[in-house]
Amino acid sequence: MNKLKFEYIWRDGYKPEANFRSKTKIMKMNSFDGDVSVLPEWSFDGSSTKQSEGNFSDLILIPKRSYPDPTRLNAFLIICEVFNPDGTPHSSNTRHSVNDDPEMWIGFEQEYVISKGNRPLGFPKDGYPAPQGQYYCAVGTGNVAGREFVEEHMDICLDAGLDLSGINAEVMLGQWEYQVFSKGILKAGDDLMISRYLLHKLAENYGYKIDIHPKPIKGDWNGSGMHTNFSNKAMREIGGKKMMIDICEALSKSHKEHIAAYGADNEQRLTGEHETQRIDKFSYGVSDRGASIRIPASTAKNWKGHLEDRRPASNADPYLILQKIQKTLKSVKFD
Ligand code: MG
Repeated sequence: MNKLKFEYIWRDGYKPEANFRSKTKIMKMNSFDGDVSVLPEWSFDGSSTKQSEGNFSDLILIPKRSYPDPTRLNAFLIICEVFNPDGTPHSSNTRHSVNDDPEMWIGFEQEYVISKGNRPLGFPKDGYPAPQGQYYCAVGTGNVAGREFVEEHMDICLDAGLDLSGINAEVMLGQWEYQVFSKGILKAGDDLMISRYLLHKLAENYGYKIDIHPKPIKGDWNGSGMHTNFSNKAMREIGGKKMMIDICEALSKSHKEHIAAYGADNEQRLTGEHETQRIDKFSYGVSDRGASIRIPASTAKNWKGHLEDRRPASNADPYLILQKIQKTLKSVKFD
């Protein structure tokens, strides 16, 4: 028998942005093959996480997906959903209402800022560094900050089995991006959650804080987004200009509904500046980084492939983003 460590991970009831919470369950088992149905439910005190009040504060964690935990020996990271004692999903449980679609392929581009002492890493104690321009995809002291941390995060994500497809330094100093690709809506949401969890956990070792606010520094500094690339089977295999335009038009009609699900304070980022479209406008275009929806040149070439929704904020809930995209796609005729 081995003593295996299972980190039960969930999100709390803080608004507008939930925080990760987690605790470790140690179990004696010969081995664990990733099948979460053998893991027990567990409870926690919801009154300490803004998820319940008063005397009956126990909430239930139900394991939903597991990943190897590269940060510890004999350990696994467990995505959990939160349920009320009567078995109904808790109001903070946005994962529960996702209808999975394994044929949807998703690529999230998660931008974030590393902070230390409430300043972005690399910023001087007072004032600002040189204006934007020299930092994007940069190399060299003064041009980037935090690379050691960023690369360690990349490696542990890969070790956890995530399909990271790249990382890069972003437009603001101390700002970075990674891209994670997943097949299936639920898996995409879970993969992104695990990548964010690892970001926060690893930052403890460095004394850093991870800031995923969409406009961490006011003024002429890029905000942080989470561009969401998506395709369904029809978009990849049948395609056609009409299909892609129909999808963009459907997204236009549901713009407000999407924006409501795309993260708090996003109006500070979607201003029409800094490679964004204004939050109250909708537009799409081939290779257009100032549009709400970019039709990538690779898709426009033979009108097959994915579209990029550039509206979601860096702090958005991936399950809510994907539910909205799925709902809008349902209104499009694909035959
Ligand atoms: Mg970017």
